[in-house]
Amino acid sequence: MPWDFSTEPEFQSKLDWAFEFVHEKIEPLDILYPHRQFHPLDDELRPIVDPMKQAVRDAGLWATHLGPELGGVGYGQVKLALLNEILGVSQWAPIIFGTQAPDTGNAEIIAHYGTDEQKEKYLQPLLNGECFSSYSMTEPQAGSDPQQFTTRAVKDGDEWVINGWKYFSSNARTSAFLIVMAITDPDVKVYKGASMFLVPTDTPGVEMVRHIGLGAESEGEGMHALIHYNDVRLPADSLLGGEGEAFAIAQTRLGGGRVHHAMRTVAVCQYALDMLCERVLSRETQGSLLAQKQFIQGDIADSYAELQQFRLLVLYTAWEIDQSHDYRQTRKNIAAIKVLTPKVLHDAVWRSMHAHGALGVSNEMPFSMLWSMAPVMSVVDGPTEVHKVTVAREVLKGYEPSDGLWPSNHLPAKREEALRKLAIHVEHSVGNA
Ligand SMILES: Cc1cc2nc3c(=O)[nH]c(=O)nc-3n(C[C@H](O)[C@H](O)[C@H](O)COP(=O)(O)OP(=O)(O)OC[C@H]3O[C@@H](n4cnc5c(N)ncnc54)[C@H](O)[C@@H]3O)c2cc1C
Repeated sequence: MPWDFSTEPEFQSKLDWAFEFVHEKIEPLDILYPHRQFHPLDDELRPIVDPMKQAVRDAGLWATHLGPELGGVGYGQVKLALLNEILGVSQWAPIIFGTQAPDTGNAEIIAHYGTDEQKEKYLQPLLNGECFSSYSMTEPQAGSDPQQFTTRAVKDGDEWVINGWKYFSSNARTSAFLIVMAITDPDVKVYKGASMFLVPTDTPGVEMVRHIGLGAESEGEGMHALIHYNDVRLPADSLLGGEGEAFAIAQTRLGGGRVHHAMRTVAVCQYALDMLCERVLSRETQGSLLAQKQFIQGDIADSYAELQQFRLLVLYTAWEIDQSHDYRQTRKNIAAIKVLTPKVLHDAVWRSMHAHGALGVSNEMPFSMLWSMAPVMSVVDGPTEVHKVTVAREVLKGYEPSDGLWPSNHLPAKREEALRKLAIHVEHSVGNA
């Protein structure tokens, strides 16, 4: 019976290489060029970044989760999870390894649903790392509830014309193209009446109204666009997949995206735990090391145990995806790790930040930046509540209501049943019956 938690030595040596590469070569980029990773390479960065991407390709680790037909090596999700446990601490590493959101999800859906022409025009440059893409689904008046989406695509002769507003389209400002969800049949439920379109970002009528930032980012410097699609005319072959298939397509992309965020969060939680342990072994107060205080020991134990639980569920879910290649079949555990991600991240970073005292809340340590990702993780790709509902629905599918008035584990009935089964051996009733 295969039930094995070890990593095969050949892949472990690749992970060791990746660890060294991220810490030695990529970390300086994070320090010196933060928040530049989704901008086109300029003359200063191209000579640094291109050779790094080549080194990753030479090591056989470029876009590892994609099949060879898409320029990857087809390692699947478990190996991607193990790799992301290394890449997740770095802003630049996912770009340099060809695994960055939202491009990975966008590449997956074009690979699944695109025509040959669409693949050549959009997918190939994306996989080559030559451009960025954006996914434009959320609307200002409706994020979690697609039934309130109003962006429309209407056929006009050989063309589609899109009108409406989209919100929080990440990286739209530097993208070469957008994948836009729009309603094509308003007479049926949105889940059957919406379609996906491939829209070059420079198409007339794509109006970037604002670039929204996160938290304390300066106004105008954000990467999440409010976009007005104002009479955007597109040729008929801009449709991705069939009419009315937008939600089936979205599921392919969002399922993967949620797991990949969780994989990278494992890395961040481990990073927080590492910093916690180093600090408490280094800092003395009131006659002993912080590491010798029971409150601190409790924090270490909680962070360690929660990280191990979370990591195992992430790896298990990745394994499930590799088995079924169908995100719908793994939606329960994908939703469960989506719920856990912000919580374990918040708690791990908080404990470590707090143990560093003033230094922890200062801008001389990375905690504030890491911690600010917790609330982001709880809304991006759908809020926690919605995923809890999914988990509960999926869990309940495995249950039936009890037959009569009493629960099936009602002890008096069980006792009666037990006596009946053991009647031969039991002369007198037992216990308090
Ligand atoms: C960093 C970031 C990047 C993003 N990138 C993209 C992107 O690239 N493309 C894109 O299309 N979108 C993107 N989004 C948008 C994201 O998908 C939405 O924020 C998300 O779906 C929630 O929608 P909303 O923000 O409108 O919140 P709302 O739907 O208004 O929800 C607000 C709150 O209401 C509560 N709530 C909502 N529904 C329920 C419910 N059923 N039961 C109980 N409580 C509920 C929850 O507390 C929730 O947090 C991004 C968001 C962030 C933060």
